[in-house]
Amino acid sequence: MLELNGLDVGYRGQRVLHNVNLTFRRGEITTIIGKNGSGKSTLLKTTCKLLKPLAGRVSLEGEDQREYGQRRWAQKLSYLSQSRSESQITVRALVMHGRYPHLGFSRSAGPQDYQIVEKALKQLGIEQLQDKSLSQISGGERQKAYLAMALAQDTPYIALDEPATSLDLSVQREMLKLLLQLKQEGKAVIAVMHDLSGALEISDQVCLLDRGKVASYGPTRQIVSSGVIEEVFSVSCMEIQREGNPLYLFS
Ligand code: ADP
Repeated sequence: MLELNGLDVGYRGQRVLHNVNLTFRRGEITTIIGKNGSGKSTLLKTTCKLLKPLAGRVSLEGEDQREYGQRRWAQKLSYLSQSRSESQITVRALVMHGRYPHLGFSRSAGPQDYQIVEKALKQLGIEQLQDKSLSQISGGERQKAYLAMALAQDTPYIALDEPATSLDLSVQREMLKLLLQLKQEGKAVIAVMHDLSGALEISDQVCLLDRGKVASYGPTRQIVSSGVIEEVFSVSCMEIQREGNPLYLFS
């Protein structure tokens, strides 16, 4: 369990998140939604130990985040950031980076590491791109390569900042399926999502941020029926059923 307790976060002492309390559990997908500038990325970065809170604490499996060294932390949690640089390294080398926190003293990859890299490339359907450099592939393909790196890290907690942006609609659907698969594998999936319908379709828990505060947090259906999403985004929501599951459409 990954817990945020009484978190205040800010930049140069200026608070942008106020008293955030959330719990991320394994086998669950939690999505973080909110308008631009509401603090979603800041929240994710703090959860992932990239920003220090001004107050409050983050604890992972009962241990304060500050007690974890970089390597031990990276064995527990992988993070897909919003920015994905276009370096000259190959897709395969990038994905192998995901294994670094697991390599032994010799720092050389073993058969199991290669196997995990293969699996991640396959899960994203990018085996055929593995020898290309990141600068030779499209934005959507690059995004998949970074996601494959996060998967290769093979952590029980995975945090993704906008995993589906810049992907075609059909690939966005694949991405949602992949997140559901990660949940089935028992991972805690934490995702900042822009696509409200997609977020609600796959979430177990939703956290709605509004101007740095948690406006609503809880099981998806409860959040939707409270009407708070419609209020914050100034939209109307319609629920339809597809194959026995609720689907929420916004206009
Ligand atoms: P969201 O992800 O919901 O769009 P962010 O977490 O990126 O929101 O930003 C929340 C607030 O923090 C915004 O007002 C933004 O301008 C500010 N902010 C984000 N990053 C920085 C930074 N590096 N330095 C100063 N202010 C920042």
